[in-house]
Parts: sequence; C-alpha cells; structure tokens
Amino acid sequence: QPSIAFENISFGYDEDRQILNDLSFEVPAGSHVAIVGPSGAGKSTIARLLFRFYDPLSGRILIDGQDIAGVTQESLRAAIGIVPQDSVLFNDTIGYNIAYGREDASEDEIVAAARDSAILPFIDSLTDRFDTEVGERGLKLSGGEKQRVAIARTLVKNPPILVLDEATSALDTRTEQDILQTLDRVSANRTTLAIAHRLSTIANADRILVLDHGRLAESGTHAELLTRD
Ligand code: ADP
Ligand code: ADP
Repeated sequence: QPSIAFENISFGYDEDRQILNDLSFEVPAGSHVAIVGPSGAGKSTIARLLFRFYDPLSGRILIDGQDIAGVTQESLRAAIGIVPQDSVLFNDTIGYNIAYGREDASEDEIVAAARDSAILPFIDSLTDRFDTEVGERGLKLSGGEKQRVAIARTLVKNPPILVLDEATSALDTRTEQDILQTLDRVSANRTTLAIAHRLSTIANADRILVLDHGRLAESGTHAELLTRD
C-alpha cells in the first residue's frame, strides 16, 4: 500500500488569493485519513492537486515517497480511485457503468473481479440487473443505488489509493450509514483519504484533519478531537 504526504504545500487558483497555506500532512500506507472543515476551506483542492489537475506553487506531494511532479496524470488516475459526491452514470446498462474503465473485461470477469476486490457487497443487489439500462430512457436509480454503482466502478479497478470526496453527503442518513458500513469493509487496509463535512461520516478514520482557510486547524483521532472541544 502506498502512503501519501503533502509537504509544505501552498496553492492558489489566482495569484492574489492563497487557498492552501504551507499545508503538511501524511496518510500512512493503508490508513484512513479524513479531512473535515467548512465549505471553501480547500478540501476538494487537495484532491485536485493529488491528480495534478493543478500543481502546487510550493511544496511537494509524495506518493509512496515519490514526488508526483514527475508523474503523469494518467498514472495518477490509475493509482487513485475517486468517488465524487454526485456521480454521473452513463445512459447505458448497470454492467457497462460498473465495467467502465475495464472495457477489456466481460460481465463474468467484472463479477469475478468484484469478488476478488471484495466489492460485491456494493453491487449484490444489482448483479441480477446488470443488463438493465439506467438513465434518461432506462431505470431511474435511487441516489444510493447510483453511488453504489459509482463506488463499484471505482473499486473494480482495485486502485491502491481511494479518495472519497463527499461521497455520501448527498444521501439520506440511513442510506449514507449503509454505504459507509460497506465502504469500511471494502476499504480496510487501502490507503484512503476521505473528504467530509460531518464528523458522523468518518467515525472510522484513523486520523482526522480539520482544515480551515487552507491550514490545519487541528488533527487527531476521533476521540482526541472530541475531548478537546
Ligand atoms: P472545499 O472543498 O473545502 O469546500 P474547495 O477546495 O472546493 O473547498 O475550494 C476552496 C476555495 O477555492 C473556495 O473559496 C473556492 O471558491 C475556490 N475555488 C475552487 N475552485 C476554484 C477555481 N477553479 N478557480 C478559482 N477558485 C476556485
Ligand atoms: P480512468 O483513467 O481510470 O479510466 P477516468 O479518468 O477516465 O478513469 O475517469 C475517472 C472517473 O471519472 C471514472 O471512474 C468515472 O467514474 C468518472 N468519469 C469519467 N468520465 C465520465 C463521464 N463521461 N461521465 C461520467 N463519469 C465519468
């Protein structure tokens, strides 16, 4: 499992406004780190830098000790699976949506890969509907089902690093808890960076970073942060 390290990262989209200020943190190999903080704090910007959609103004980002400044976006996308808040599915079958990015694989192979990477719990209820069309002219999936398909699509590629960017925050509490429980099971021992705005969604993070105005306001375990308040 790779580790992630941000070392003294500063970044702004415009010259006159700094979004991240000398930010340093680590996600140790195989651990779960959550970033929380108010809207606009710079959380999603961290994810964008990790994929090199932008490069930092100063500082280094290391994956497994290697500076990503020398790594292509393509290799980064292969190494990092991301689940956004509002996943967009293709107007195609559920199977196609899950297999997207694994066009080489047949449906049987996808199910087999799903078993291997232990993502089956996500798509269990959907496997008998692999041939069902979704989207505008097909079946309307619920928000939760959509996110399950999106998460399966990401995990089926078995990325060593998982980034969850508010992956469940658009869902109702019950669906959210359901998906979070499954996520906990499948992401065990996978280097995971979860972006969230509610503490209840990151109960199982090994470490929580509280971001405010692009700086680390606090960090610690769930218990440590609760006792400090
Ligand atoms: P968070 O995820 O914590 O809500 P973001 O990282 O999305 O915050 O955004 C941090 C700040 O950067 C916000 O003030 C936002 O308006 C600004 N921002 C985000 N994307 C861009 C962009 N492409 N161009 C200019 N400013 C941006
Ligand atoms: P990869 O390089 O691993 O094949 P991409 O960079 O093409 O992945 O896509 C990254 C993620 O973005 C995919 O897992 C998929 O969820 C989503 N995605 C990419 N293109 C689209 C699209 N046209 N519509 C909806 N989601 C997309």
